[in-house]
Amino acid sequence: MIYLISDLHLSATETDIFRRFEQFTARLVPGDQLYILGDLFEYWLGDDAVFFLGHENTFNLLRILTEKQVKIFFMAGNRDFLVGQTFSKECGVTLLTQEHILEIDSRKLLLMHGDSLCTDDAPHQAFRSMVLDDTWQKGFLSKSIAERDQLARLARYRSDDTKTGKSMEIMDVTDSAVSAIVEKHSVRLLIHGHTHRPAIHSINCQLPNCHRIVLGDWASCESWITLTKDEILLHHHGITDQLIL
Ligand code: MN
Repeated sequence: MIYLISDLHLSATETDIFRRFEQFTARLVPGDQLYILGDLFEYWLGDDAVFFLGHENTFNLLRILTEKQVKIFFMAGNRDFLVGQTFSKECGVTLLTQEHILEIDSRKLLLMHGDSLCTDDAPHQAFRSMVLDDTWQKGFLSKSIAERDQLARLARYRSDDTKTGKSMEIMDVTDSAVSAIVEKHSVRLLIHGHTHRPAIHSINCQLPNCHRIVLGDWASCESWITLTKDEILLHHHGITDQLIL
């Protein structure tokens, strides 16, 4: 079975969400695939700061899962864009690029985090261009963990108000960005997270029968997608939405 999740926003203080994640992963069996489409972590200071941020529980959970032959794929979100090869190799997770094409039974699906589609959010797009730049990342990672933590506290995306998760209003995707990306990749299915607005939408574009499926966040309950060659099921808030393929 293929599972997709995103936007857990794990932090050392959010022990309920970690427990929810642990319970969710108990259903995974050898051969299953788990795609994490970004913002697994509330923020990330570098792979050398796993203990500093109190994420050894997540690290261990991911490693136990991959050791029992669950394949885990991780795409960076706008909060955990600094998750790197060291962390992923050590816990057996495969890193994905920002626009990942998943092929299932000759059908192509586009997987994204989703923040790049929120093109009306100019401050975020400016932040995104800055932090995805190699030179910026090298400079940031060359600082001490304490310095990086200080800088992250100042940045827009480090919330000290993680209890409510309301410190940042998340804009929605724009229709023009969505139609442009599916046309660019010639795909009829796009799955993303980020906006915390779980739903199945039709996409109005040049391609017929085109859909966008949005994963929910995990602040109050788990949200996930199961994918087979015949259908996509979106589970959120105790509801299941179905898209027949
Ligand atoms: Mn996000």
